Amino acid sequence: MIKPITEQTNLSAASQETTNIAIAYGDGIGKEIMEATLAILDAAGAALRYDTVAIGQEVYLSGTTSGISDDAWDILRQNRVFLKAPITTPQGGGYKSLNVTLRKSLGLFANVRPVKAYTPFIDCRFPNLDMVIIRENEEDLYAGIEHQQTDEVIQCLKLVSRPGCERIIRYAFEYARTNGRRKVTCMTKDNIMKLTDGLFHKIFDEVAKEYPDIENNHYIIDIGSALIADSPERFDVIVTLNLYGDIISDIAAQVAGSVGIAGSANIGGDFAMFEAIHGSAPDIAGKNIANPSGLLQAACMMLVHVGQPTIAAKIQNAWLRTIEDGLHTSDIASEAFTSQRLGTREFAQAVIERLGQAPRNFTPVHYPENGKQIQIHTTPATALQKELVGVDIFLHWSEQGRDPNALGTTLESVAGKSLQLKMITNRGVKVYPNGLPETFCTDHWRCRFVSHASQLDAAHNNMEKTAQISPADITALLDRITAAGMEFIKIENLYRFDGTRGYSLGQGE
Ligand code: NAD
Repeated sequence: MIKPITEQTNLSAASQETTNIAIAYGDGIGKEIMEATLAILDAAGAALRYDTVAIGQEVYLSGTTSGISDDAWDILRQNRVFLKAPITTPQGGGYKSLNVTLRKSLGLFANVRPVKAYTPFIDCRFPNLDMVIIRENEEDLYAGIEHQQTDEVIQCLKLVSRPGCERIIRYAFEYARTNGRRKVTCMTKDNIMKLTDGLFHKIFDEVAKEYPDIENNHYIIDIGSALIADSPERFDVIVTLNLYGDIISDIAAQVAGSVGIAGSANIGGDFAMFEAIHGSAPDIAGKNIANPSGLLQAACMMLVHVGQPTIAAKIQNAWLRTIEDGLHTSDIASEAFTSQRLGTREFAQAVIERLGQAPRNFTPVHYPENGKQIQIHTTPATALQKELVGVDIFLHWSEQGRDPNALGTTLESVAGKSLQLKMITNRGVKVYPNGLPETFCTDHWRCRFVSHASQLDAAHNNMEKTAQISPADITALLDRITAAGMEFIKIENLYRFDGTRGYSLGQGE
């Protein structure tokens, strides 16, 4: 027996009256799997009214680089709930990922992806696999802020906010509690990214204390990913940052047996979007062989969200019965457990014929009629005491054989009265003073200047009170650097917040 799907994702479930939702047929296999899903929803008696929006390839190729028209935005914003088939993002040509745009523009901060095994009917090495990955959806490297700064170096900004971390972490704990799950695991890379990932981990530890009934633990993302691939049954709920969540979600889906059977919810305060986890599968489009189960699972999460849990359970149970009866699409077919390979339409028909029946091997699914809604509060922002104590000036410099000592000597001579050159790093590694000749240097240099008055003992995060400098000290320094014939390409101010260092140390500093 395996555990039933009884997850609730709703932040604000609506009433059981007819609910208006926006739908998009998408690209590739999108139309086939959406038609199959809608046929099942209608046959099950879902009280839904659909508004269709055009998004994706056709819109991209008509010249709208976002892949979505203004009219479509209006329809989405009127409906507040969106069931979306996958779309194709054309390669090249400056087209923006519509999925990222939708998630960020509509404030869909939580990506919720249940992954489970349906053994023995769908092949999976881990019969007890049953986890939910909750991925932060708006921040991290997905801010999409990238710049080429020198001939050789390009940068991508990783942005992580305190409210962003707190919201997703609270959501994960609330989700666990609402859905009777026992453990929340956090995954970060805070051994390397001590400030950004460190903030996520720190807030996880803080929030976890408020949920003594839920176990918690933390893995560094690399070993965490390896464990998902190797022994996924150990996990229950996982919460992580955007990029890691993107990667581990696909590892987990693959480990579960097929990318064709998992759905996901993207949840915001006042808007929710539901979709299959897979893409538009152009290789099998138009052949009536795609598995509609991923979109159907997403549609069931949506039914729970809009307050129609009984219909969601009816569909889930019919789907489980269909799978048990060996009626499978080709992607999940096996010699031992498939009695008939069905096309997309025929699979949908088989589910429709089983509406009202319960599975015999799997535990029947039941969703509580008035499921508790997940409500998230975040701690109000508090203003911290912020002191400017120095500046990192980034230079594009390739002179004098890229000798760090030559650069250091020049910068020492222009440092001025209020600031001193503390160090120079190249791609984060200290090369001045006392760098190693073996260190490879690009044309991109980070030059750290700190207040003369400060006796910075940064390694111990222990700075004197007198460290503050003024913005004018920095602009004057930039003028002197420019006058010395050097090109600065970016600066980062060095602050301390309530006396705590707000910047990382260079490797070797
Ligand atoms: P994909 O998920 O579309 O396909 C990967 C493999 O899985 C293919 O072999 C495909 O045939 C198979 N597959 C996927 N869904 C299936 C289903 N329901 N039934 C049976 N087999 C299925 O990934 P891809 O090929 O990397 O991407 C194709 C396009 O989809 C790209 O343009 C990509 O940008 C887009 N995409 C869209 C979304 C989305 O809209 N949410 C997500 C991922 C990828």
